Amino acid sequence: MAKTWILEIVKYAQPSTMKGRTDVNSVTNWNAPLVWEGTFDPVVIDAIYKKMDPRVAVVVFAVGKYTRFLKGFLESGEKFFLVDFRVTYYVFTDNEQDVPKIKLGEGRKISVITVPSASRWQDVVLGRMKWATITIDKQIRNEADYLYMMDIDSVFRNRFGAESLSQLSAVLHRGYSQNTKRDLFPYERRPQSTAFIPYGEGDYYYTAAVWGGYLEDMYKLVNYCYMQSLVDADNKIEAVWQEESHLNKYFLHNKPTKVLSPEYLWADYDVVPGHVKVVRISQIVKNYAEVRPNGGN
Ligand code: UDP
Repeated sequence: MAKTWILEIVKYAQPSTMKGRTDVNSVTNWNAPLVWEGTFDPVVIDAIYKKMDPRVAVVVFAVGKYTRFLKGFLESGEKFFLVDFRVTYYVFTDNEQDVPKIKLGEGRKISVITVPSASRWQDVVLGRMKWATITIDKQIRNEADYLYMMDIDSVFRNRFGAESLSQLSAVLHRGYSQNTKRDLFPYERRPQSTAFIPYGEGDYYYTAAVWGGYLEDMYKLVNYCYMQSLVDADNKIEAVWQEESHLNKYFLHNKPTKVLSPEYLWADYDVVPGHVKVVRISQIVKNYAEVRPNGGN
């Protein structure tokens, strides 16, 4: 696929498809689009990407008791996620028989990958970087043009379309997206970790629960998080928010080509503020002590 051509088309197509929003920023200070409802034309943007008919991989982990979230995630994904595009959900699990049979749209598939169980939730969360690196290398690279990494404990509530696609798209964390001073971002602040970001630096705080981009760019970033976590482990330190800390460090020096508003990951825990016109994915309320192998927060 001619990727530079896609980028150019989208870059030049965007101003004419953009509608106005005056209550939020719709561009970053490095001139990347910051996507909110009302800043794009869904029909036009889907049609532009549809011409390339990209293959989109969605990598999700459902280890231990998290298999209970698969049905809601997959069924709602079929209703709202890149509808009419070619999508493969890569479900990484230690419990293949608990992967539900879901009715999928045309051109859409589920591919199940077996991974080991874990006794610490932190190991599942960070282990995603290892198993995704290995599986992209072995399999997904030949099957996808774009790749999304997503948390499973969530449901799609509204359209999540081609406006989300770019070379590297990152989602603003809902908790730190509106007028939060950068020194309050929960970046890794210990210099002993490779994820260290000093006070006074950083643009945004991004969530690691939804991120995506070109397959090779995502591979590089997933592998980066994996490698940095290995260096940290050697130094007997684990970044404060695991791969999310490494992701934020990467984006400090390699800016996302598109930033997605917290519409792209809200949570049922929080009231939806007026400037969030649409919730596209929402994290569902879970009992941490019950679902995590080692309980608690
Ligand atoms: N996860 C899993 N099993 C676990 C813990 C985590 O499969 O025991 C996966 C799952 O995809 C989940 C993601 O890791 O959505 C992130 O973990 P969690 O949702 O617990 O983190 P939170 O966002 O609540 O901090």
